[in-house]
Amino acid sequence: MPRHVKTRFAPSPTGYMHVGGVRTALFAWLVARQTGGQFILRIEDTDQSREVKGSTEHIMESLKWLGLDWNEGPDKKGPHAPYYQSQRLGTYKEWAQKLYDQGLAYADPYSSEELEVFRKTAIEQKRPFLFRDHRPINPPKWDDSKPLRLRSTPKNYTWHDEVMGELKSGPEVIDDFILMKSDGFPTYNFAHIIDDHLMEITHVIRSQEFLSSVPKYLNLYEALGFEPPVLATLPFVMGPDGKKKLSKRDGAKDILDYSREGYLPETLINFLATLGWNDGTEQEIFSIDELIKKFSLSHVQKSGAKFDETRLEWMNGYHLRQLEINEYYELAKKFWPKSAKKADEQYKKQVLRLVQERVKFLAELPKLTNFFFEQPKVTAEILTDKNLKKDDAKNYLIKVLDRLATNKFTQASLEETLRNLCEELNAKPSVLFGLIRRAVTGSNIAPGLFETLELLGKEPTIARLQAAVTGV
Ligand code: GLU
Repeated sequence: MPRHVKTRFAPSPTGYMHVGGVRTALFAWLVARQTGGQFILRIEDTDQSREVKGSTEHIMESLKWLGLDWNEGPDKKGPHAPYYQSQRLGTYKEWAQKLYDQGLAYADPYSSEELEVFRKTAIEQKRPFLFRDHRPINPPKWDDSKPLRLRSTPKNYTWHDEVMGELKSGPEVIDDFILMKSDGFPTYNFAHIIDDHLMEITHVIRSQEFLSSVPKYLNLYEALGFEPPVLATLPFVMGPDGKKKLSKRDGAKDILDYSREGYLPETLINFLATLGWNDGTEQEIFSIDELIKKFSLSHVQKSGAKFDETRLEWMNGYHLRQLEINEYYELAKKFWPKSAKKADEQYKKQVLRLVQERVKFLAELPKLTNFFFEQPKVTAEILTDKNLKKDDAKNYLIKVLDRLATNKFTQASLEETLRNLCEELNAKPSVLFGLIRRAVTGSNIAPGLFETLELLGKEPTIARLQAAVTGV
């Protein structure tokens, strides 16, 4: 690796950040951090028609939430400021002018109708359309009102990609592409090459969608006399079926939605890092420090990685369970059900301890904890099931009430009493305990029965059992 590694994340502000974009940023960030290098954030806002208001702020907020800090970027005074491409138009113009003056770029004289005719003819003649087949003999003077195109040099290329390995292309993919548009803005193809060079980027780490354009870029680097950076192409994040690129429809949501639903940034980092990368072992859980140490572009897989929401939930559950209770309590604050409003901190922390094992993301808290704060509505349908008839349910509950009347309501005493009752009634523990659980919590999904009853306390438990007897 070069000594002063400098990577960049260069998003276009065209919408919210989703997992694909964040993963690209993460990989570039990891490479910078593991080498003591630098990470730059550059906003590629040269296509004003696609720009979505608020995107830049959203991108920065997302990166901040995840802890992906940048050394140079829009809100920092770096040596290569400004970091918005729309504020660097003079620079692109200057470099375009250099190419033009050397005869390496020329003004495109055609109207869009004329281009369309060229294109159609090529299709009819079953040959690929190449602009350079129509290169004008006497191009007009370039004056900003016409696009500026590279005078390309068709040739073979072989190059190394840190992820994809050795790659090659033929002259047929080299064409005279647009450098400057007629609105005075550069194309992405041109601007990113100028900026990566001026900002001294050593590694360009980006998504697969740009892979087919690399030969064109190599041609442009040559025309400009620039040394190409190290290139690393990240395969797409695929939808759950593994067949096509993850789309908004199958779950590519706003990354900040994960924050709103109570996912931890360390989960997202762990999840995205292991989406198409592993350290050569089966290990799935990585801390951020571990990733910084172990990550390597050469272990990124070449094919698309499947986005699996269930794995993300599982991983978040894991990271939530590692939290110390005070930290967990702080994070959980905005997720409680309304019914928890009056409950005190001590009680809520106990509730958290009981449900910690089950919670996959914090927005599940209301569903999983509401019964700790409010008596659930319990009907005969909830109480009975195929193993338990209505009359038996009623009789059992009456017996339970009787036995619990004198119970100390500690986990141990509850367990002893209720297990004895199972024997006495000749009832399976799963049947009797399930009934009590449903009577008290309104659901089959609840933490361990004895812990739950102890925390809930004697009075509320008895009141709920009584209500259930009347309801059944
Ligand atoms: N602005 C490009 C995009 O958002 C980034 C490509 C790159 O990383 O060079 O797709």
